Amino acid sequence: MSAQQQYSFFESVEKSFDKAAKFTKWDKGVLEQIKVCNSVYRLNFPIKRDNGTIEVIEAYRVQHSQHKSPCKGGIRFSDGVNQDEVMALASLMTYKCAIVNVPFGGAKGGIKINPRNYSVYELEKITRRYTSELVKKNFIGPGIDVPAPDYGTGEREMSWIVDTYTSLKPGEIDAAGCVTGKPITQGGVRGRKEATGLGVFFGIREVCNMEDVMKKLGLTVGVEGKRVIVQGIGNVGYHSAKFFREHGATVIAIAEHDGGVYNENGLNEEELIQHRNKTGSITNFPGAKTIVNTNEALELECDILIPAALENVINAENASRIKAKIIGEAANGPCTPEADEIFIKKGILVVPDMYLNAGGVTVSYFEWLKNLSHVRYGRLEKRFSENMNTHILGQIEELSGKKVSSGEKEFILRGAEEIDLVHSGLEETMITATREIMHIWLSNPEIPDMRTAAYVSAINKVGIIYAELGIFP
Ligand code: NAD
Repeated sequence: MSAQQQYSFFESVEKSFDKAAKFTKWDKGVLEQIKVCNSVYRLNFPIKRDNGTIEVIEAYRVQHSQHKSPCKGGIRFSDGVNQDEVMALASLMTYKCAIVNVPFGGAKGGIKINPRNYSVYELEKITRRYTSELVKKNFIGPGIDVPAPDYGTGEREMSWIVDTYTSLKPGEIDAAGCVTGKPITQGGVRGRKEATGLGVFFGIREVCNMEDVMKKLGLTVGVEGKRVIVQGIGNVGYHSAKFFREHGATVIAIAEHDGGVYNENGLNEEELIQHRNKTGSITNFPGAKTIVNTNEALELECDILIPAALENVINAENASRIKAKIIGEAANGPCTPEADEIFIKKGILVVPDMYLNAGGVTVSYFEWLKNLSHVRYGRLEKRFSENMNTHILGQIEELSGKKVSSGEKEFILRGAEEIDLVHSGLEETMITATREIMHIWLSNPEIPDMRTAAYVSAINKVGIIYAELGIFP
């Protein structure tokens, strides 16, 4: 914890929880049960490095809540991993799943390594060993606890996990559902990779379409023309930037760990990534101004700021210098409680992490369902829909005596593919969640911010299960 921060990450989550709990009807015991982390597994194991030395690896898996099974949450590879962080992230997963009506409890995993310092072979050894340790303790499985990618991990790590798990559990028919975020060839679902960034876009777009909210912020309705700054051009940041740009917003700045870039006419995230692949850094991007102190990028004039890197980056020290009108928390926990207070006073709208970045877990849910059903989305109905659409269009053309253009025809006749269904399920989820939270917030003038409203939504959805079903006498 830095000197600027009064609270650890987990304490911040607890503080936000307590703030919201006042607006719910649950008694102390139920609230306490919702808040605590049910199981914390801390493990150490040795690996042999490529140079022959033995290194002891520190890792965690925290199951915050089993009010629904399985529990679900990503695995983070970062040298900042510690028990407090994993507990906080696991708690956020419980609340996130509840808000978006994904029937999972919350969990999270972390391995305390900087993946940049390890070879691919070493990373594979670490991931496989971590998985087999989880298997030993019954901390992973399609009906127990289902990991996913998070900071520092992706499809590659998920395929190592599913491979290790299936080799240790021969004959387990649903084994592919032991982890999500897998490559398509290993049982993944189309649309998972971009899901969190796309969900961030859908959530913010819904907020930007709310006339009253935009009026209060002094902004025009809609995403088009909004100036956006993104921190972190990893999985979530890259896709957030992509969808904002594709829908008419201008991404004026992007910040990375080693510096940022600024161009008031807009940056193209794909070209920026190619530049980084070539040079090793996003800085010195042709046509853009380099920002040497990367944190300064967050303080530039803009409409929407998307922190998509790590927690606690917007805190008591820098919050008063933030000029954005909307902060879309793509990362988990980027704003501290102290920063929240400053934003409430300044009238800056913080769209909270715990639902805004739920796109990943929502599509993970679709992937898990696909694994359990053993059938690709769209397989059963695509051809049927196309045949039916062809028939209906033929009837319309015959009855009206007019023909639709070939472009329109193609659009109308098409049956849904897996990717269409996943994107539409995600869009529906994010729109519904945004409206539910806004409704809670706007219908109680004492609720100070959208984060508190989101917690109220989560606490009520988990509370009802503990209060009515889940606590044994
Ligand atoms: P990632 O590893 O793909 O990307 C993170 C990026 O942030 C990297 O490019 C890294 O270099 C950059 N970064 C690190 N420190 C920085 C700094 N100080 N300033 C600017 N950039 C910095 O990780 P990700 O999966 O995109 O996750 C990012 C955040 O989103 C995390 O908080 C994670 O918990 C959250 N999240 C991820 C998912 C998901 O599906 N991947 C889902 C929900 C939430």
